[in-house]
Amino acid sequence: MTNRNYLENLRIPTKEKPLRILMSSCLVGITCGYDGSANGEYPSALKFLNYDTVKIIKFCPEEFSFGTPREMCDIHGGTGIDVLNGTAKVLTETGKDWSKGMIRASEKILEIAKIEKIEVAILMDVSAACGSQVIYDGNRFSENKVYQIGAGVSSAQLKRNGIEVISQRDFSSLEILYSKIDTNHKVNDTKLDHHEIEWYKDYFNINK
Ligand code: SF4
Repeated sequence: MTNRNYLENLRIPTKEKPLRILMSSCLVGITCGYDGSANGEYPSALKFLNYDTVKIIKFCPEEFSFGTPREMCDIHGGTGIDVLNGTAKVLTETGKDWSKGMIRASEKILEIAKIEKIEVAILMDVSAACGSQVIYDGNRFSENKVYQIGAGVSSAQLKRNGIEVISQRDFSSLEILYSKIDTNHKVNDTKLDHHEIEWYKDYFNINK
């Protein structure tokens, strides 16, 4: 769940002092996905490239540690914060333990965030590294794949160090950011963050 209050209180950026956003590389079209693709196209993230009031700093945690292409990995026995605390593991589809590499990558993304004085991160949801709201619970290739609420390893590292992380499908929060980088943008109040949509509420049995 994002902190909209924090987003609303962000300064109005200028061309000289742009908003400093850390973004999953694949969200801006870099082909760093496990299969060498960009994991699809995400207009809600690509939109930021059109403004000179934004500085995008992009990073792919999994590529940093494992290269591209690579195996697909997921978190087993907990979420990203549990991996950081040593009580859950990141395993690849063939069972390799990638926990250490994922932690190393999370330390790198945190280092970048600090050096670049990042004001907000927009990361690809569901990824074992970048997921910020929802991730898989165990292997996504299993017949009965299961989702859980929680963050991937890099997102968890940023969050626990006080950096606001939102996903590419937190459309309500993104509206606030659009209005910061473009003073002509009128916030669309009908947009929802991911935790507000019916699928999320149904799947996680919220408010029932
Ligand atoms: S690790 Fe993050 S940046 Fe890299 S491909 Fe996966 S979601 Fe995209």
